[in-house]
Amino acid sequence: MPFESDALDSSPLAAHAAAIDAALRTAHPRDILRAALAEYGGRIALVSSFGAESAVLLHMAAQIDPSIPVLFLDTGQHFGQTLDYRKTLAGRLGLTDVRDLRPQYQDIAVQDPSANLYKTDTDACCTIRKVLPLDRALQPFHAWITGRKRFQAASRLRLAVAEAGEGKIKFNPLANWSKADLDAYAAEHALPAHPLVAVGYPSIGCWPCTQAVDDGEDVRAGRWAGSEKIECGIHVTRPPTPSNDAVGGDI
Ligand code: SF4
Repeated sequence: MPFESDALDSSPLAAHAAAIDAALRTAHPRDILRAALAEYGGRIALVSSFGAESAVLLHMAAQIDPSIPVLFLDTGQHFGQTLDYRKTLAGRLGLTDVRDLRPQYQDIAVQDPSANLYKTDTDACCTIRKVLPLDRALQPFHAWITGRKRFQAASRLRLAVAEAGEGKIKFNPLANWSKADLDAYAAEHALPAHPLVAVGYPSIGCWPCTQAVDDGEDVRAGRWAGSEKIECGIHVTRPPTPSNDAVGGDI
């Protein structure tokens, strides 16, 4: 299904993302996923943290195509509960292509041999443990899917259903869903929760940089708590590389 665009943006990819966003802004997340896979099938991956709310998007994707590539950033600093949950949830949903992305050995050996870089430079730590592994893994793909939602933080209030960045389209099918929507979907499909949710962790990343939060706080308030950092860097737009500068697709 082609998406017509009258966007004034000078980038064809940005105009394409704006057209998708305009067409799907109020659509059900399942329909957004269907549209994304219909256009980019074989060239699209879903990036999941297997965190607090990951089961909903993973379940929807598995219902449409259980062989979709699912990229999990295995930073080497996860809670043991997250690694267990990644295995059990993937198995239960029947996902057949979950890929564990690990930091490059040389980056760890040179920059973080004692695994405590997070104490002195969280940006550098996230770069070698998240940003670079994901950049490498996404190279063959023209589009990717995230689980980000507007309600998660003030910084995400204007999150679009589709964005352009690094030469790819990024879909956020859950952008306009509320916490109540997610909880209702999880209950309807009896999806297992990440075990740390029950003990006060509504957003879960690496153990050194994740804390439980108090009632009424942003769900991401426990991420890098006490610092200015609010994102790991994988959602910060960087220039496209020649290998991934593609509009792609026919919608
Ligand atoms: S979240 Fe913390 S431990 Fe994980 S990669 Fe970033 S700085 Fe390092």
